[in-house]
Parts: sequence; C-alpha cells; structure tokens
Amino acid sequence: MTLEIDGTLAERVVELRRAIHRRPELGFEEHATAALVERELDSLKIRHRRVAATGVIGYIEGAAPGRVAALRADMDALPIVERTGLSFASEIEGKMHACGHDAHTAMLLGAARVLVGMRATMRGSVVLLFQPAEEGPGGALPMLEEGALDAPPVDAIAMLHVDSRLEVGTIGVAAGPVNAATDELYLTVRGRGGHGGYPHTAVDALPAAAATVLALQNVVARETDPLASAVVTIGTIAGGYRSNVIADEVSLSGTLRSHDPAVREALVERVARIAAGIAAAYGVESEVRIVRGYPAVINDAPLAEAFASFVGERSSLRVEAPPATMGGEDFAYFAQRVPGLLIRLGVRSESAGATHPGHSALFRIDEAALPFGVETLVLFTQCAQESRDRESD
Ligand SMILES: [Zn+2]
Ligand SMILES: [Zn+2]
Repeated sequence: MTLEIDGTLAERVVELRRAIHRRPELGFEEHATAALVERELDSLKIRHRRVAATGVIGYIEGAAPGRVAALRADMDALPIVERTGLSFASEIEGKMHACGHDAHTAMLLGAARVLVGMRATMRGSVVLLFQPAEEGPGGALPMLEEGALDAPPVDAIAMLHVDSRLEVGTIGVAAGPVNAATDELYLTVRGRGGHGGYPHTAVDALPAAAATVLALQNVVARETDPLASAVVTIGTIAGGYRSNVIADEVSLSGTLRSHDPAVREALVERVARIAAGIAAAYGVESEVRIVRGYPAVINDAPLAEAFASFVGERSSLRVEAPPATMGGEDFAYFAQRVPGLLIRLGVRSESAGATHPGHSALFRIDEAALPFGVETLVLFTQCAQESRDRESD
C-alpha cells in the first residue's frame, strides 16, 4: 500500500512552512513558532505539553497498544540576513531559516495530521517532539531531562533534515555515524613581553603560537587513521600590540570534529600533548580548554536497514545512502538513548533555484519535497510499530 499525501495536506504544509519562514526565531526564543505548533495540535485534537521553555511534545495514541515511535523536528533559525528574494522571505532583519528547520516543523505537523487520521488502525503510539535551539545552545538535552522519551517509553526515534545534495523525491538513509561530534578548542600561549629590538630579554609568544598551529596539522595528517574521519581547524589567532613589541600572549580558537568516540577522545589528548610539547620547546606556557559540543549522530544499523527496505516496499521514494558529513546535530543525544535515525530529505532542484547549501543567505528548498518528507515520517512510525510484530512472530 502506498501512502497518499493529498493536495490539501500538501498545501497546508506549505502554508505552515511559509508562516514559520516569515517569522524566524533563534534558539530558546521560539515563542511564536511554539504557539503556532500548539494551535495546530489543538486543531487536530492532539494532547501536548510544553518542555524546555519553547519546546512542545505532542502525543498520538493508537487504538491498540504497541510500540512507541518518536519523530523530532527542530524549530530554530539562524542569525543570517536572508537574501533569497522569496515572496515569503524573513520579515525579521538579521534572522533567517537557513537550515530548513521551518520545513522540518511544518512536515512534522503534516505527519501529525496524517497520523491522527490513522489512529483507528494504529497499534502503538507516536510522540511528536518539536525541539528548540538545535543551532545552539542545544534543546535536545533539556527536553530529555524533562522526560521527552520516558512517558510513554519511546522504542525508536527519527528526524528529517533537508539536504541540498539530494534531488527531490530522494531520501538518505545510512547506518552508523552520519554527523560529527563538534568540540571547540581554545588555546592560550603565554610568554613575557618586551621590546621588539631586544628579543633576548623577552619570551615571544608569537613564534610558539605559529609553531603550535603547524604542529597541530600533524594530529590529523600523521596521528589519525586515514580511514577515520577527523578535523582539526584553527579558526582564529589573536595577539600582539604593534610592530616593535614582543607579544606576551596569543589566543587561538578552533574546532575538533570526528565520527568515532575513540577518535574524539584521541583528538583532545593529542592536541593537549602537542600544545604542551611546543610550549616546553619554546619556553612559554600554554593552556588548552576544550568545550564539548554535540556528540556524533550514530544511526542505528538494524533500524536503518529495516527502514530502507520498508520504504522500498511501501513507497516510490528513492533511497540513497549519502556519505556522512562533518556537521553537528544535537539529535545525537536522542539517538544515544534509543535506536535513532537521522534521515536526509532531498530538496535540491535546479529549476526551483534550490542548490545553495544550508546556512547560506541564499538557501532555499524546493517545496515539492515537503509531501515526501511527510510520507517519510509516517512510514517511519509504521516501520517502527511493525517491527514489534516481526519480533513477536
Ligand atoms: Zn544548521
Ligand atoms: Zn539543521
């Protein structure tokens, strides 16, 4: 049986998406977006509650008991000035839905509408998670702390993310790591200042900082398995006063990214060792501070396999297994708690001008992809609920 997403539903999803797109809100400021979600859930007679300030959880109970599937959509926008020229472009200066979270929220509301209509034949239930602050500081953990996956206990969870690498009509389902762990690195090198003409009377922090930047390249190039994924990027370097003064302090910052938890720990350890070694060699002091970001998103392998074949049997969606990315996603925390799947939704089309990547001021999606996203979410709940039947056979 192929799931049909009718025209009225598709129109409603576009309408919701554009309304959210016009009024982008940053992390934990999603008051209007959360209110829109609550109004839509009310109109569908779906029970809901507030969590994590601007998060909303909705509950759809099937006629018969069974497994519990959760669907997660993020709601926050980015501090970007939109330059798409769309008729429904951002009306709030300096804020833009440039990552597609407007589409994620609208598609989850569309899926809610379909699922409510299927309640009579549904075995099990569906938890709808509308999450704030994915772009930072992170809304997944506070939602988990407020029991997002606990009552009823969720058996499997999925999220959609729009992807401008994939054509409309295609979804991406891959097993294992699909997004990276993202840790911030802050490094301070301290020497002793002095006159630029008498370097021997001072301890210059600048050459030590420069040597550190170069030596850090060794972490990925020579110390990490070439088949593992890792990034060490130094993004900023700041220090010194003027041309004839020896710099007493230099600050650097960067990002560490990896897929494998063991590689993640190794990066931190190696960066600290190299910074300390260079500092000793140059007679300066160095201080390394790591700010832990989101862990890597690890898609559950059996779930990915089961879902890919389920979609193959039940729909005309094309399923691909796109390569993992080094971007971050706080869905990782949900997927650490229960089997989870980050599913990519193809939104690319030349004709709709949807070719720019996420976080670009020109980012846009082909709205023809929205019904496919709704279908994907509904199919996931069916797959998750049916796998119980298979197990108990
Ligand atoms: Zn983003
Ligand atoms: Zn995003």
